[in-house]
Amino acid sequence: MSNSVDEADVLVVGLGPAGLLSCLLLGQKGYNVIGIDRWPDPYPLPRAVTFDHEIARILASLGINSNNDPAIDYHDDRYLWVNKDREILLEVDWQSTANDGWRNRYWFDQPDLEERLRGIVDSLPNVRMWQGYEINRFSQDDTGVTADYHEVQVDGIIATPKPGGKTGTVNAKYVIGADGANSFIRRAVGYELTDLNFYYDWVVVDTTPAVMPTPQNNPAYLSKHFQICDPARPTTVVPGGPGHRRWEFMVLPGEDPQEIAKPENVWRLMEPFGMDPKKDKLDRAVAWRFQGKFLEKWNAGRAMMVGDASHLMPPFAGEGMCAAFRDVFNLMWRLDLLLKGVGDYKLIDQWSDERREGSKWYIDFSMGLGGVICITDEKEAAKRDAAMIAEYKANPRPVDPHDALLGEGTWDSGDKLAGKPSIQGLVAHGGRTGLFDDTVGRGWMLLSAIDAADQQLTDTQLAHFAKAGGRVVTIGARKTGASVLDIEGTYGQWMGENKVSHVLVRPDYYVAGTASSATELQAMFDRVIGSLVK
Ligand SMILES: Cc1cc2nc3c(=O)[nH]c(=O)nc-3n(C[C@H](O)[C@H](O)[C@H](O)COP(=O)(O)OP(=O)(O)OC[C@H]3O[C@@H](n4cnc5c(N)ncnc54)[C@H](O)[C@@H]3O)c2cc1C
Repeated sequence: MSNSVDEADVLVVGLGPAGLLSCLLLGQKGYNVIGIDRWPDPYPLPRAVTFDHEIARILASLGINSNNDPAIDYHDDRYLWVNKDREILLEVDWQSTANDGWRNRYWFDQPDLEERLRGIVDSLPNVRMWQGYEINRFSQDDTGVTADYHEVQVDGIIATPKPGGKTGTVNAKYVIGADGANSFIRRAVGYELTDLNFYYDWVVVDTTPAVMPTPQNNPAYLSKHFQICDPARPTTVVPGGPGHRRWEFMVLPGEDPQEIAKPENVWRLMEPFGMDPKKDKLDRAVAWRFQGKFLEKWNAGRAMMVGDASHLMPPFAGEGMCAAFRDVFNLMWRLDLLLKGVGDYKLIDQWSDERREGSKWYIDFSMGLGGVICITDEKEAAKRDAAMIAEYKANPRPVDPHDALLGEGTWDSGDKLAGKPSIQGLVAHGGRTGLFDDTVGRGWMLLSAIDAADQQLTDTQLAHFAKAGGRVVTIGARKTGASVLDIEGTYGQWMGENKVSHVLVRPDYYVAGTASSATELQAMFDRVIGSLVK
């Protein structure tokens, strides 16, 4: 048995979506990263099938264009909720484009997308990813963290320490616990998830149909994505990314989830949707317990918990992995400032506050959807249907998808744009034309309207801003001499409607604050960034 000791800036425990993204973003910033996952091979089957516009914007920063990628697609169709008689209860607008230039909903093949992310990580020589090793001890002090691991052997879905296998220790400055619902790191720092007592068993079915069923070739498909609120069997029918389809069938009270998940039962449940075992392929059927849990505090000294280690939500809104991506994208710029020695630890406390409240909103929202969908009592379902149908008939238009929220943190509370995702428009800059992020760049950005270009930060503030990697750009319409040309007037309209001349945008694309004079700008900068950057 060998016992090795390795050093890293950051140890990432768990290489699911949250851990992979952490390795990738830290690696791209040049940090020495070790990522460790228990399973010898990447998980070959999807859990998540859909993500929203904010995630598309994050993926774009990695060079993955969700509008044109073999692992991702989208559908110009409404998301319909119907009752047992297929009457419409609700429509959700999943086909339009959000204010950041990306579509509201995408569908993807999780293993394919993860393979792409892994490919990027593999190209970074400063990131080491070790699969087939489990972290079994963790400690920290003022100077760093230490974690021990052992090699595992796998028998089915059980991983146990491999007799005589490799063991080792990693010393790092920080650890990211991206180790899922049963997070070892979370337990090692003595934290527990708060249980919201939401439990429903569902069977999740992934398929590869021989011919992709659509509303055009099969009338059982009311739309590309729909929810059947039938008390006899609540059912979700959605795409599963290019070439795939997903079904989710609720396990009724008194039923055995493992029994429902048997192939013969799953094929029977899919029969009304034209699925045929002779032609179509069943990729897997698995029973899952949908639940709602959250972590009160996400950081403990040098340990930070992200993704399912901090929050579990039923997948009715398709937002669990999205929340994991937001956790990581929000954490990375803060950790970067800490590792560079210019950021204050308060940035991490604020991250915990922001993300806890943000993910709690989605947990509540998803549980609320579940409360409507998971009704199995006929009378209760009839009451729900009558109320929802009346509401839909009174206002038969799609409901807008909700944007993610942040708890109080590194943004100017009280400002009506701050704490919300920033918009993105078509711009020209430095001889290039395209969406702002790709054309101008990413990171802290102060957007100043060209006619307010003389209203500036003080020299000291500019020096602080530069330490955080911040840039000031002027933006305006054609012939105004701005450094960024607002081709379609998107930014001019946004600033005009909100009566602001300056918008401070964070590296995770959230608005940190706004101002309409030099005095307001300087005061806002001090409130938001002030002592956070040394
Ligand atoms: C049926 C279903 C459908 C879903 N659909 C969607 C959807 O459409 N959209 C969406 O956004 N979300 C969806 N989700 C949620 C989403 O799948 C999860 O939120 C997401 O996978 C969480 O990613 P993660 O990286 O935090 O954790 P995980 O994917 O669980 O990864 C954790 C990793 O940590 C490793 N690990 C654990 N302990 C150790 C240890 N001690 N040492 C080393 N490694 C360890 C594990 O092996 C694992 O690989 C769905 C979930 C389910 C169950």
